Amino acid sequence: MMKEIIKSKKFAIILSHKGPDGDSIGSSVALSIYLKKVGLENKIIIPDRFPDFLGWIDQSNSILCATEILDELHSYFKNADIIFCLDFNQRSRVGEIISPFLNKSSEKTVVVIDHHTFPENFGDHEIIDTSASSTSELIYNFIKDNGDLEIIDKKIAQAIYLGLVTDTGSFKYSSTTSYTHKVASHLIEIGVDHSKIQNKVYDQKDINKVNLLGYALQKIKIDKVSSLAYLSLSEKELNKFKFKKGDTEGFVNHCLSLKGIEVGIFLRQDGNMVKISFRSKGLYKVNEFAKKFYNGGGHQNAAGGLVINEEITNVEKDLIKNFRLFCLKG
Ligand code: 5GP
Ligand code: MN
Repeated sequence: MMKEIIKSKKFAIILSHKGPDGDSIGSSVALSIYLKKVGLENKIIIPDRFPDFLGWIDQSNSILCATEILDELHSYFKNADIIFCLDFNQRSRVGEIISPFLNKSSEKTVVVIDHHTFPENFGDHEIIDTSASSTSELIYNFIKDNGDLEIIDKKIAQAIYLGLVTDTGSFKYSSTTSYTHKVASHLIEIGVDHSKIQNKVYDQKDINKVNLLGYALQKIKIDKVSSLAYLSLSEKELNKFKFKKGDTEGFVNHCLSLKGIEVGIFLRQDGNMVKISFRSKGLYKVNEFAKKFYNGGGHQNAAGGLVINEEITNVEKDLIKNFRLFCLKG
């Protein structure tokens, strides 16, 4: 059915969420190449720039960043008769510049492909599977359901593999299933060099990033009452290490790596915002915590949220209070 819809369209826009990650970029690139191969011209438009460690996946420099093409956005959306929303299911996740373009209109078909909880259900067609390891896995399924598995070439395979690796922490998180491994296995058969991708994603850091990690590790605090380990970094601290977007990727996992700790939280100041990352082991539902207190969401074991116009030190104090309360009441 999706194949027929694709065939009937002339131009597609592919969108993904603010703060692009390996899965949002990987799934977008994979879908973009696939759509072109089946005859649907398209453009990927992202709300803000992706971190350097993902740069290699966009060899042709074809991903457009909304903040850099403000004047052209209108005409792109005017020309599009189908919009794919990948790795998010709430319109606000694409940010203030793009979200107005996602309001319901009869001329455009909106397709949501995602694996997060609490969908807003704004799409005309939605493929939402919270049990999927990643949106990239769902793009693989999308291609498969269209009967096009043989169309997957090395470039599409690499992009899907990138999403699998980054969203599963290299096949480590509980979201990894035997099916995820089957998909990965097929992608390797197609020609993905898995160790090369691991190297590009994780082993090309600049020294400032490693030094920043060293500094951050010394700052991790523990709240024994709630089995919580947390870490916060102000803009001043980040600037000392020449912070670049993506440099703190994975920091929150160090909080969670501690013995006896069930929840890890990382707070990062970004201008007038404090961006918060939540990670948990087992049954702690950090997506519910993020939704309840921080206007956020995500998955049971990995979620995010935001506080605006508040000192990071106050956000940190409130956070511990809120978290203790949440643990008591659920
Ligand atoms: P991260 O901590 O890596 O930014 O995000 C962890 C997970 O939570 C990702 O799946 C991400 O898409 C989701 N997430 C992060 N920030 C937000 C947010 O503000 N709102 C919602 N709904 N999800 C978020
Ligand atoms: Mn994802």
